[in-house]
Amino acid sequence: MTVRLNAKTARVLEGSPWIYKGQFDAPAVSSAPNTVVAVLDRQGRFVGRGFYNPRSIIAIRLLSRRRDEKIDADWFAKKIQSAIDSRAPWVGSRDAYRVVNSEADGLPGLIVDKYGPMLVVEVLSLGLSQFMPIVLDVLAQQFKPTGIYERGDIPVRDREGLPRVDQLLFGRLESPVYIHEHGVTLSIDLAGGQKTGHFLDQYENRGRVGMLAAGKKVFDAFSHTGGFGLVAARHGATAVTEIDIDAHAVEHAQQNAADNSLTDRMTFVTANAFDWLRQASDQGPQYDLGILDPPAFTKSRDRVAEALKGYKEINLRGIKLIRPGGILVTSSCSYHVSESDFINVVGQAAYDAKRHVKIMEIRGQAPDHPMLAALPESRYLKCLILEVGV
Ligand code: SAH
Repeated sequence: MTVRLNAKTARVLEGSPWIYKGQFDAPAVSSAPNTVVAVLDRQGRFVGRGFYNPRSIIAIRLLSRRRDEKIDADWFAKKIQSAIDSRAPWVGSRDAYRVVNSEADGLPGLIVDKYGPMLVVEVLSLGLSQFMPIVLDVLAQQFKPTGIYERGDIPVRDREGLPRVDQLLFGRLESPVYIHEHGVTLSIDLAGGQKTGHFLDQYENRGRVGMLAAGKKVFDAFSHTGGFGLVAARHGATAVTEIDIDAHAVEHAQQNAADNSLTDRMTFVTANAFDWLRQASDQGPQYDLGILDPPAFTKSRDRVAEALKGYKEINLRGIKLIRPGGILVTSSCSYHVSESDFINVVGQAAYDAKRHVKIMEIRGQAPDHPMLAALPESRYLKCLILEVGV
């Protein structure tokens, strides 16, 4: 089947793999969703081939711009292999990393994370779901995993017309599994944890925090299973307070601390971090190193203003909590909040806190989460390292 772009098309001709509803003339025959369609421009020239899903706002996701490429089992095997190969120099001997990162690896809607002997997949496009048997074959051959588990209880699947499922797709489920990062052992709850079990995108930033932690008193707000704080404690922090609203995550963090014999220097708080930050910062500066790693405050463009208010608040409080000369590591994973918006809001927070704040470093997501230049949505994580002066 073939579709022809109309006058409203812009991004796809500038390199984006996404074609929105209304940017092409809908096919005359009501074609079944899942179909791989050929896309032509207004002059009838070949643009590429992609998944077509009339239900989704992103109605076509391009897979290939090469006319001679057939989208078949072989094609998927090659794509997955090339994602695996491109990780090798970046992940070395790590036992946990993202193997496939959707559009950036040319596989729209496919996420694959490796956690030791297990693989966890997320399928976020209907077209891709049709090819899962092939994907599973390739992954099983390449990794010989104990099991491949699908995390699919996520709202974006509704928009694609995909059912919400959490299920074992291959082998058997081993959970928890144990992974290692920056000298810490972490247990990963594959079936019940948040996201695919762990926030791998912050791996490098946790390592950075480890380098800055020796001798420091640390708070880690939005700590999940304790990642940043545990790495800090392992690398010489004298005291670490972990704060998360999810009691289950806090318990998990406590268990991780025990497994790493770090309990003696760690404190765990189940609380809304907004409240904790407000109350603690009212007592004045008390910490040498702080981490703010909240969930996305907005998933839609029209709620950016509200999200910015949230970032302003936690950064204001976070800055106030840091002793002069200390460090605040602050992140945003809302892709609708741009890096410059985020920097601005941190600047406003510093101004309101009446503190001189220097940006020491601007960081992002780990390299096993590659981005596409033409798809700004693929670059979502911003991480600023600030030195908070007097
Ligand atoms: N820093 C973690 C990942 C954090 S994910 C790591 O490196 O692994 C965001 C966390 O924020 C989740 O664990 C979620 O439970 C928590 N959270 C969400 N809203 C919160 C709130 N209002 N107060 C405290 N924690 C919150």
